[in-house]
Amino acid sequence: MTLFEKIIAREIPAKIVYETSDVLAFRDINPQAPAHILVIPKKVIPRLGDAADADAIILGKVLLAAAEVARREGIDQTGYRLAINHGKDAGESVPHLHVHLLGGRSMAWPPG
Ligand code: AMP
Repeated sequence: MTLFEKIIAREIPAKIVYETSDVLAFRDINPQAPAHILVIPKKVIPRLGDAADADAIILGKVLLAAAEVARREGIDQTGYRLAINHGKDAGESVPHLHVHLLGGRSMAWPPG
């Protein structure tokens, strides 16, 4: 099981902020912004490049969940950023697709 599957199964604790039958969102353990939440599909897709056409609906649900969590966090008016790290150069460390939702501060562009 991936670390995030264990969070889905409640085998390890997490600060869960949103859940549906398909999606889970929880606070990142090492936050990089005042609001830093990981939004994941419950289905295991290791990384974006492993997603298939059949995953289109779940990928859409993950993005819509991120927007809903942003509203609930009160950062939809000030702004937020979504990030998906794929592979070594991007710093991917957990092989279970996750969208980082970051907000609550202004952010530089381009990202480092
Ligand atoms: P990435 O580097 O894109 O693979 O992101 C993985 C993220 O998972 C990092 O931002 C970590 O801080 C976060 N993380 C690792 N372990 C946990 C955990 N147990 N609970 C919440 N977030 C975690």
